[in-house]
Amino acid sequence: MTAFDRDYVMTIGGKSVSGDATIEVANPATGEAFAAAPDCTRAQLDDAVAAARAAFKTWRNTPIADRQAAVRKAADVLIANADDLARLFTREQGRPVDAAKQEILGAAQWLQAVAAMSPPVHVSEDSGAQYIETRYVPLGVVCAIAPWNFPVTLAMWKVAPALVAGNTMVLKPSPFTPLCTLKIGELFRDVFPPGVLNIISGGDDLGPWMTAHPGFAKISFTGSTATGKRVMESAAKDLKRVTLELGGNDAAIVMPDVDLDDVAQKIFFGAFFNTAQICVATKRLYVHEDVYDALRDRLAAIARSVKVGDGAEQGTVLGPVQNKRQFDRVMALMEDARKNNLTLLHGADVPEAGYFVPVTIVDNPPESARVVQEEAFGPILPMLKFKDVDDVIDRANASDYGLAGAVWSKDVNQAIEIARRIETGTVWVNQNLNLRPDTPFAGHKQSGFGVENGMEGLLEYMAPQAIYVART
Ligand code: NAD
Repeated sequence: MTAFDRDYVMTIGGKSVSGDATIEVANPATGEAFAAAPDCTRAQLDDAVAAARAAFKTWRNTPIADRQAAVRKAADVLIANADDLARLFTREQGRPVDAAKQEILGAAQWLQAVAAMSPPVHVSEDSGAQYIETRYVPLGVVCAIAPWNFPVTLAMWKVAPALVAGNTMVLKPSPFTPLCTLKIGELFRDVFPPGVLNIISGGDDLGPWMTAHPGFAKISFTGSTATGKRVMESAAKDLKRVTLELGGNDAAIVMPDVDLDDVAQKIFFGAFFNTAQICVATKRLYVHEDVYDALRDRLAAIARSVKVGDGAEQGTVLGPVQNKRQFDRVMALMEDARKNNLTLLHGADVPEAGYFVPVTIVDNPPESARVVQEEAFGPILPMLKFKDVDDVIDRANASDYGLAGAVWSKDVNQAIEIARRIETGTVWVNQNLNLRPDTPFAGHKQSGFGVENGMEGLLEYMAPQAIYVART
């Protein structure tokens, strides 16, 4: 039992609100429902937007130092509740408890770092004739929609800059993982004034209702590219600002000079951490033919040694796939690979109940295979051979996605040259999965629109306002 094994409520205008109906939340390690979350009605969404609009009048004029202090306090609250939140996180999301706790603590660090940022003021003229300054002002009420793979981190990536900037928010977690976010809504009621941060949950109708709602000034969305396109279409009606963080099919390129024992572990976890449900996970692994077999054998050995199971059990390294829909998607890719006689190297056995998939490496499939072309977002990794650097860069870039990528080589200068030719918003050299609150994260091509993180990310929640003052 954790402190949170009880009913879950929304936070609207600083108050607890239950749904008229509920949605079931399943533990992906068993496939069985263990909790219910409110299914927000349209009227309750209207209430949340109205509360956020009312709160905006005061919050926008609250000194930024006070807004930053509140966001720092929110970080303290996450840290103080990290153990209970982590246990709940594991039950709804599936990730092992230690790694779940790292997500809560990482989200707190994010809040702290963003709370240290302030928007700039530019003075373009300060003369006897006139004074011209450009400052940044908040937009209004932000509609924030989060996915299930990093439910707390990716929600806080939105909460921190939006609220520091002076906006208010209505946040919706994924229906697959609403519980930690609802709980955080309750915990933050002592941190933010009523209406500043409203948290609602619901089924498949709620997202479209939100993006079409005229009370929002901006939508900040993280999820799949297909849904992102629908969000942008809906936002166009009243020209809401949008930030979209979408899917990826990230390529990693492994040059022949790497230290195989060193890079194998790093590459493995760069692909399979969180059961490969990471937007910036390595999803296509291109390996120079001279070291292909040696790296494949090392990765397959790691796959066999890693315990896949219930995240609540001691020793589990990788949990289940998070939900049935995603499980079916990954299994369909596996089936397609089997039908096409591709060679599959499976890792350790997995439990039968729940949404478990064995870690699987696909041994040198053709470039046209579905598992290469599509974002799997699950533990099936295509590993492909290359000989020529120009050719592998072309293959890495032959994607509608442009989220991230990695280059592995002892020749760091050559690796940087290759990195610069990769058409993605983030490229790592001899590392992966490293993102920071002070560094912009921007999906190129169909991986996104706009930026999260860094000063650019903060300014996505603001609009420039130029003030011209005559002095003569
Ligand atoms: P999803 O698009 O199915 O859902 C994301 C969120 O959108 C959920 O809260 C969902 O309820 C809501 N939603 C669904 N349909 C909607 C609609 N028509 N209008 C408004 N909201 C709607 O994505 P998912 O399956 O939860 O997440 C996995 C995807 O997210 C992967 O493609 C992954 O790469 C991507 N992702 C991207 C990033 C990034 O920062 N670029 C981070 C994490 C995940």
